[in-house]
Amino acid sequence: MNDASTYEVVIGLEVHAQLLTRSKLFCGDPTAFGAEPNTQVSAISLGHPGTLPRLNREAVAMAVKLGLACNCSITRENYFARKNYFYPDLPKGYQISQHTTPICRNGWLEVDVNGETKRIRLNRIHIEEDAGKSMHDPTSGFSNIDYNRAGMPLVEIVTEPDIRSADEAFTYVTELRKLVRHLGVCDGNMEQGSLRCDVNISVRPMGETALGTKVEIKNLNSIRFIKKAIESESRRLVDLHRKGEPILQQTRGLDENSFTTYAIRTKEDEDDYRYFPEPDLPPFTVTEEFIEAIRKQLPPAPAEVKKELSARYALSEYDASQLAGDPVLMNYFTALSAETTNYKAAANWTIGPIKNWLQVDDRGEFPAPAASVALLIRLIDEGRLSYGIAVQKVLPHLINNPETDVQEYIAGNDLYLQGLSDGPDKHIEEALKKYADKIPEYKKGKKGLISLFVGEVMKLSKGKADAKLVTEKLIEKLKN
Ligand code: ADP
Ligand code: MG
Repeated sequence: MNDASTYEVVIGLEVHAQLLTRSKLFCGDPTAFGAEPNTQVSAISLGHPGTLPRLNREAVAMAVKLGLACNCSITRENYFARKNYFYPDLPKGYQISQHTTPICRNGWLEVDVNGETKRIRLNRIHIEEDAGKSMHDPTSGFSNIDYNRAGMPLVEIVTEPDIRSADEAFTYVTELRKLVRHLGVCDGNMEQGSLRCDVNISVRPMGETALGTKVEIKNLNSIRFIKKAIESESRRLVDLHRKGEPILQQTRGLDENSFTTYAIRTKEDEDDYRYFPEPDLPPFTVTEEFIEAIRKQLPPAPAEVKKELSARYALSEYDASQLAGDPVLMNYFTALSAETTNYKAAANWTIGPIKNWLQVDDRGEFPAPAASVALLIRLIDEGRLSYGIAVQKVLPHLINNPETDVQEYIAGNDLYLQGLSDGPDKHIEEALKKYADKIPEYKKGKKGLISLFVGEVMKLSKGKADAKLVTEKLIEKLKN
C-alpha cells in the first residue's frame, strides 16, 4: 500500500532567475540570448588571471525591486563571496555569489491554491553569477562548452519549506514567473533557461513536526517537470520510508522520459565550497535613497491588482487573475470599464475575443476604441444585437476601421436582431413546414427536436433572429 494521505510532503524551492540587464553581472559583455557560442566572452567572463570584476548596479536595482515586490527586507551592507568548486563550465574555478548577506530576506509570496490564499515564505533572494553551459555530444564522446552564459546575472529565490504538494509548487512558480515578468526583471522564459528551479523535497508521517531528510532535484526547466518530479520523488520517498530503508541526502536529476529521478551525488557540505569574501570586489552598501527610488517605480503587484479588481468590479477569481497578470489586457479592461457598468461583460470581452486577437503575433495593443466595444455591450444587453454577430461581424470591422460609427454600421448592414413582429414569424412557418413530419414526434415527447426547429429559423434569418424569442415562440406554437 502506498497511502500518501498518511504522509506529508514538504517542499522548498530554489528558483534561479536571470536578470534582464543589458550586460553581465561583473563586466560589459552583452546578455542577449541565442548568440553564436563563445562570442559574448571577454577575458573577465573567462576568468583570465589579472582581470577584475566590477559590479553591475542595474542588477542590484533589479534584485531590490523583486525583493520589495515580495515583501522582503533589504540588506544594507553586502559583500560577495567566492563559492569554490571545480567544474569545466566554471572558468574561474569559483562562482561569485552572496553567502551570509543575501540582498533580500524574509519575504513572502501569496498564491491561491484550491480557492484559498496561501502564503509561501521566502528565506532569501541573493545575487550570483551564472556558469557556462556544457553540451555533451554522445557521438563524438566530446563535450562542448559555451561560455556566453558565464557571468550572467542571476537571482536565486529561496523559499522556506512551506510548500505541501505538486499543485502548490506549480502555482507558486506560475505566480513567481508572472511577477518577474510584470516587474520587468526577468523574461521568465523557462525553455531558454531564464528561469530554472531546484526542488528540495522530504516526506514525514502526518502529524510529525520535525523535517525529514531532504533530496534536491536540480535544474528543472519547465513547470510541468517540476510537478512530475515532485509526484514521482514523493512516491519514492514514501516507499523508502514505509520499508524502513534509509533516505540519503542526495542531489538528483529528473529523467525527462520516464519522469523518475536518479542520483547525481550525495550532497556536499557547506564546507566543501570553502566560501570566503571575494577579495576583488569591495563590499557594497544599499542606501535608503536607492531603495526608496526603486519603491516609487514599483507597479502594483498582480496579487494586489487582482484583489482590487475583485473588490471594485466584482469580478470572479478567474477573470481577475486573467487580467491582473497582463498589463495590455488590464489597460483595455480599465478603459472599457470606464465606458460601461456591465463589468462582467467587459471582462468577458477582454479575456475572450480581445485577448484572442492580441495573441496572434503578440500584438501590443487593441485598436478598437473602448467606447465602441462598450456600445456593443449595451446593444447586446438591450437585446438589439446578438453576441455572435457583434464578435464575428462588427468587431473585425471595427478592428480594421477603428473610426467606424458602430450604430451606423450595424444599421447599414442590417445586423440588428429582428423583433418579433417582422421576419421570425414567416421563418417559423417555413421551418415548421420543412419539418412537418417531425412535429408529431415532438408533440409525443421528443422535446430535443426544438433545437432542430430553432436552428432552421436561425438559418433562414441568417443568424439575425433572437434565438431565445424564437424558442419561446416555437414552444408556444407547438403546445397544442
Ligand atoms: P542547503 O544548505 O542544503 O542548500 P538550505 O537550508 O539552503 O539547504 O535550503 C535549501 C532549500 O531547501 C530551501 O528552499 C529550504 O526551504 C528547503 N528545505 C530545507 N530543508 C528541507 C526539508 N527537510 N524538506 C524539504 N525542503 C527543505
Ligand atoms: Mg542551498
